[in-house]
Amino acid sequence: MLNCKTGIEELVSGPFMMKEPMKHHTSLKIGGPADYLIIPQSQEELEKLLLFSRNEFIPFFIMGAGTNLLVSDKGIRGLTVKLEKPFRHIRFDRERVTVGAGASLPMLSIKASRAGLSGLEFAAGIPGTAGAAAIINAGAYGSSMSDIISSIKVLTWQGEIKIISSRELEFNYRYSSLLEESWIVLEIGLDLVEGDYNKIKSRMEELLEHRRLNHPIEPSAGSVFRNPQGKSAGKLIEEAGCKGLRVGDAQVSTKHANFIVNLGNSRYIDYLEVIKKVREKVKNKFGVLLELELNMVGEDS
Ligand SMILES: Cc1cc2nc3c(=O)[nH]c(=O)nc-3n(C[C@H](O)[C@H](O)[C@H](O)COP(=O)(O)OP(=O)(O)OC[C@H]3O[C@@H](n4cnc5c(N)ncnc54)[C@H](O)[C@@H]3O)c2cc1C
Repeated sequence: MLNCKTGIEELVSGPFMMKEPMKHHTSLKIGGPADYLIIPQSQEELEKLLLFSRNEFIPFFIMGAGTNLLVSDKGIRGLTVKLEKPFRHIRFDRERVTVGAGASLPMLSIKASRAGLSGLEFAAGIPGTAGAAAIINAGAYGSSMSDIISSIKVLTWQGEIKIISSRELEFNYRYSSLLEESWIVLEIGLDLVEGDYNKIKSRMEELLEHRRLNHPIEPSAGSVFRNPQGKSAGKLIEEAGCKGLRVGDAQVSTKHANFIVNLGNSRYIDYLEVIKKVREKVKNKFGVLLELELNMVGEDS
């Protein structure tokens, strides 16, 4: 473990955690200790932490709600920085919404619906933060963040604040060109449209009901694999006979084959083994190599 406790104490006003088990901070409930888990209390603190890590050559990892992470059992070295309260603002100005990177996406879609604004219905059931959703272009049911993003405010690795308009960004399936830069998303500008509250609400309920019926309730990180061009990863996995495949407490969900769930005490290596087996079986049966959608993080990942 890197020893930089004193340096961190001088930079942050709130408490921070040392050797904090990441399984307490991920929806999968897997993951070893983060050397330092810090929740900055202001943008200024975040900027200082980034500068500190750069100057001292300490690894820096930014996270939101941990709903798309598979963290190794050895955990994460250096600083793990989680965006929470000071980054959760949501401001409406007619059809324009400005949202902090740490705001919950489901909460944002509820607030937008109450304001009579349409465009975020698809996001009602996507757990996690707006910042992560923007950078990975999260989406569902034929819509994605790129449909509504007008600009993204970032903190660059050099400590500069930039506002980038959507015209300057490239978006694709679970991809934005910001992923190439390892910048931190601070705030997102969204363009929604006026709509009928009852219609928006009923569409959100319909999509949430679809999730309730088709997604597992056990801890997961959402879809494990990206859909190959024109194909459904879940269908390929199911047809390769992988539903229910289990190693330790990691199991391909019996409800939706593109979810690998933690049945209780799954270790990282069990989870990896299931991923490996699924990939092998799908490759052997269909000649398709599945790519990961979830983010693998930590030592040895
Ligand atoms: C039950 C379930 C259902 C899901 N359904 C969907 C779905 O329908 N569609 C979909 O797209 N996803 C889905 N997901 C995956 C996940 O919810 C989304 O990818 C979500 O956007 C991740 O947000 P997060 O805050 O949890 O990010 P994290 O898991 O904390 O981080 C994910 C990645 O984003 C980076 N990141 C986080 N915050 C920032 C920031 N401020 N600046 C820069 N980088 C950042 C992290 O470094 C990491 O690489 C689902 C997950 C679960 C558990």
